[in-house]
Amino acid sequence: SADTGDESRWLSTFVGRVQESIDELTELDRQAGDGDFGTNMAAALRHFPLPLRGTDPDVLRALSTSFLVRAGGTSGALFGLFFAELARAFDESSDRTGALRTGVAEALRQIQDLGGAHVGDNTLVDALSPAADALAEGSSLPDVSAASADGAESTRELVASRGRASYVGDRARGVVDPGALVISWFFGAAADVA
Ligand code: ADP
Ligand code: MG
Ligand code: MG
Repeated sequence: SADTGDESRWLSTFVGRVQESIDELTELDRQAGDGDFGTNMAAALRHFPLPLRGTDPDVLRALSTSFLVRAGGTSGALFGLFFAELARAFDESSDRTGALRTGVAEALRQIQDLGGAHVGDNTLVDALSPAADALAEGSSLPDVSAASADGAESTRELVASRGRASYVGDRARGVVDPGALVISWFFGAAADVA
């Protein structure tokens, strides 16, 4: 319930995973970008004591606001938008899979409108788009999570043509895109119903 924070436990799992991984995310963006991604994630999420309290829409809205207000960089805007669309969808539906299907489709559309990235450009779109496809096909959350994780892993062989990471060229080869990795952790947490 909203009182115990149980409803949004999956979001606590996600936030905790990112909070524990700031150094790893910094290192990935240092290798393939400008090194500030971990700092941007920490700025957005360090204000959230775990476990998170509140309903899914309330927590998702708080995450959106924090990314938009506290995090810098491209990720502040894009993750802010991502969580805003999810909050809107979870307002409409209490079914997690259904709300994710609606919210992720709309978030992907807006992120691509704003940032212009397509699959294969070595951005978080490489993890988000396969998740959106799997949700649209009616896949189970574990399958959605696996599709997103595969998409994130696919960025290891890619060099960015969008965002700051595009300035570093071949240096990005062999490095997973940190934004895609965080998106895959989000779906991993959504699938983790235990
Ligand atoms: P910056 O590139 O401004 O330093 P961050 O380091 O905060 O921003 O975020 C980098 C992440 O943002 C990348 O790992 C990538 O996943 C994502 N990103 C960058 N540009 C785009 C874009 N045009 N579309 C989608 N995602 C993008
Ligand atoms: Mg950066
Ligand atoms: Mg930057």
